[in-house]
This record gives sequence, structure tokens and C-alpha cells, in this order.
Amino acid sequence: MNLSSLSFFRSLRTNNNNKRQFAVVGLGRFGRGVCWTLHRLGYEVLGVDADEKKVAQILTDQIAAHAVQLDSTEPAALKEAGISDFDTVIVAIGNYLEASVITTLNLKEAGVPHVVAKASSDIHVKLLQKVGADHVVFPEHEMGCALARSLTKPAILDRFDLDTDHSIVEVIVPDEFHGKTISELQLRNRFGLNLLAVSHDSKFEINPNPHQRLYKGSAMVVIGCNKDINRLPI
Ligand code: ATP
Repeated sequence: MNLSSLSFFRSLRTNNNNKRQFAVVGLGRFGRGVCWTLHRLGYEVLGVDADEKKVAQILTDQIAAHAVQLDSTEPAALKEAGISDFDTVIVAIGNYLEASVITTLNLKEAGVPHVVAKASSDIHVKLLQKVGADHVVFPEHEMGCALARSLTKPAILDRFDLDTDHSIVEVIVPDEFHGKTISELQLRNRFGLNLLAVSHDSKFEINPNPHQRLYKGSAMVVIGCNKDINRLPI
């Protein structure tokens, strides 16, 4: 389970308009980060926390349009705040398992279409899924995995996991590929990978011409099976 799960984003896209409203329940470091980014992207965000200091702080820092102090384990309090009118609510309560699970359940029972919940352990992930979270993130675990991958495969600049076995990766062109044309490299035959784009002067060319040569230091984007991506000479 990770942030780049396609099925979740597909479901969000069905309701993709600029009027989308977000609420973030829990204004710890993670919740504030979510609020800050949504706010900067121009979305209207409601910040929610039981702690009135956190609520006041988020307004002072101007990282949410609105903020309200309430106990999200109370369905009546959520109803009064109009939470069911929000398209997407992020439950950013990682350290209080009971409050996190009850809040998620309350939000789904109130009819919120997309509830994203933050977990802080494997069992927390399972509980959030059981009570109906549409998407569960486990940032500490995901960051740990990403760090391990970047340490062992520094040539992989970015990756988008399509599912557990398939990814799209941006990778530095391996030395072995330097000066060869795309057709000479036979990426599909040799590695089972499809080349989607190559970089030129910090811009990507999509569906590059097969006669084009690749040069070390530039980047390419490929799609395929993770085990095939791991066979690239990087
Ligand atoms: P960190 O801040 O350490 O990164 P985190 O982002 O997971 O962790 P938590 O420590 O879990 O944050 O706390 C998130 C916020 O959730 C806290 O500000 C806390 O006041 C708030 N909170 C906890 N229980 C409730 C609740 N029942 N209703 C509303 N807010 C709550």
C-alpha cells in the first residue's frame, strides 16, 4: 500500500474539479504538511483538531482557510462541522490508534466519499482498511522503503508504482547504453521494458524516435515489471 496507488487516484479523478474541498483531521506534523501543500496549491482546506492551540496555530500560520476545534471521535461534532460535505478527508492521527480508527469509521458512516488515513503500524493499516478507509498511507514505512531503494539503486531518480509488481521509473541512462540508438538497445526484447520518454536539456521527449541515440547522464523513463527494471545495468 503506498501513496502512488493508481486505483485510489483513479477514483479521485472521477470527481476532479477545482472546487474540491479537503478537510484534514489531526494537525500534527503530518497533518500540517498536508494542509500546507493543499493550501499552497490553491485548495480550500479545513483543519480540524481537538487541541485548540493547534487550531489557532494553523490559522495564525495561514496554512488553512478554516479551522475548527472538535473531537473527531464524536459523530455529532463532525456532523455539526459539515464534514460529510467534503469530498476528501485526510485522517492525520498517527499516534492515537483508537481516535484514528473511530474517526475513519465516523467519516465513512457520514458518507465522505474519499477518506485517506495515516497509519503508524501494520495492524493500524489493517484496522483502517477494515473500517472503510479508501486509502491508507504509512509514511514512515514508505519513506524507509524509498530510502532503501534510493541507496541501493541511486540511478533510479523517481518511480511510480502501478501495482506491487509493475512500475514506471525515471532512470539515468546506463553507461552501457551510451551512444546507442533506441532501436539498437532492444529494450523490449532484452529487458521486457517499454521506453516512454528520454530527457533532453531538462525536458522530456515522449515516445522518442527509435533512431535517437541515448547519452549517459541524461534520463529515460521506462515502464515494466519490477524484476525486469532491476535487470537494467544501472
Ligand atoms: P507527528 O506530529 O508526530 O508527525 P502525527 O502527524 O501522526 O504525528 P499525532 O501525534 O498522531 O500526529 O497527532 C495528530 C493530531 O491529532 C494531534 O494534534 C492531536 O491533537 C489530534 N487528535 C488526536 N485525537 C483527536 C481527536 N479525537 N479529535 C481531533 N483531533 C485529535
